[in-house]
Amino acid sequence: MPKIDDFNFKGKKAIIRVDFNVPLNDKFEVTDDTRIKAALPTIKKVIADGGSAIVMSHLGRPKGKVNPEFSLMHIKDHFAKLLGANVLFASDCVGKEAEEKAAALKPGEVLLLENLRFHLEEEGKPKLPEDATDEEKKAAKAEMKEKQKVFAKALASLADVYVNDAFGTAHRAHASTALIADYFDADSKMFGFLIDSEVSSLDKVLKDPQRPFTALMGGAKVSTKITIIENLLDQVDNLILGGGMIFTFIKSRGGKIGSSLVEDDYLELARTIEKKAEEKGVKIFLAEDVVAADAFSEDANTKVMPADEIEDGWMGLDVGPKTIAALKDVVENSSTILWNGPLGVFEMEKFATGTKEVGQAIVKATEKGAFSLVGGGDSVAAVNKFGLADGVSYISTAGGALLEYLEGKELPGIKAIRG
Ligand code: AMP
Repeated sequence: MPKIDDFNFKGKKAIIRVDFNVPLNDKFEVTDDTRIKAALPTIKKVIADGGSAIVMSHLGRPKGKVNPEFSLMHIKDHFAKLLGANVLFASDCVGKEAEEKAAALKPGEVLLLENLRFHLEEEGKPKLPEDATDEEKKAAKAEMKEKQKVFAKALASLADVYVNDAFGTAHRAHASTALIADYFDADSKMFGFLIDSEVSSLDKVLKDPQRPFTALMGGAKVSTKITIIENLLDQVDNLILGGGMIFTFIKSRGGKIGSSLVEDDYLELARTIEKKAEEKGVKIFLAEDVVAADAFSEDANTKVMPADEIEDGWMGLDVGPKTIAALKDVVENSSTILWNGPLGVFEMEKFATGTKEVGQAIVKATEKGAFSLVGGGDSVAAVNKFGLADGVSYISTAGGALLEYLEGKELPGIKAIRG
């Protein structure tokens, strides 16, 4: 697999899968162009080398139907402005128009294809009546699989080289993110800059971490993070648990948690995790004290309490000062840090201290040479809110794909290229 930095696109047509699934307002104007900006380095590299770029993406969920609401035409001019170059458009991503426009592309030119998801074949989910029998479902799936291959081949036929730069959809085995790669030989398919940096940052953490390696897992519920926590037990030295999920652990130890968030169905699993951690020599850090409130509100009365002796009618909404001091110490002495999920209800000022101060400790550790990776919607929001974004090594905005990578799953979009 070539590295995009080393590849020369001169005279080549590259089909690039990007993630232009951006929010639009009711006038169909782009309201957040972060994802478009993120794809620019790859597209610019192709055209600067003297190649031409065929850019493809999905937008929204048109579910296999042509729907002007989800047309990438809405994005074309914004994209051209950011790119600083003219952008041509094909009103269908496959077929005669796309073929002719792709064939006529000159070095340095860019062609944007219409929404991939106007074709059911992109996602490969067949449409079935609700009362379909298992037999019918099986047959429809097999038929769709064949159609998907034809669709992926048609996209591939537009170009000489395939570049995947859409990490956000790398966990999906879609035509444009995975199947298409089968129609290019190993030296004609590669990751774009975005996926490349995402994968190498994640591998730095998960495959080759400098020790001590500390993971901070926060957020509301343990149920949504359980697979990640289990996978991390094989990798980390320290596991810091924060947010609402700690109360399931504390209750499972026999602690009193008042009316804090708890998932009673997970008490047994919490015990199993603690046991596994002990067996593997992973140190788990659970809050010693919490900032408790008498209501889930910014105006609530608050009190610091031991995390396992929360009074009735009170709920823990942030980690307390003793815990913060202990966590800062662990974090500042770590060489690799992974952070997913806030340590408290950081959206409310009164319960933001833990997330903010431990976030600052991550920045301090990074200044001292640690590698820090922050990922998952809410921790990214927290890092941005507290102005810490420039102080961490890498921020992943990939959502589902990141979570699956952290769970230890092989992502189809990565495998299709890397093998
Ligand atoms: P998640 O999407 O699972 O990462 O959860 C993030 C959300 O968890 C944020 O909106 C936080 O406000 C919330 N959260 C963090 N700590 C607590 C807590 N102690 N009790 C209730 N919710 C919390």
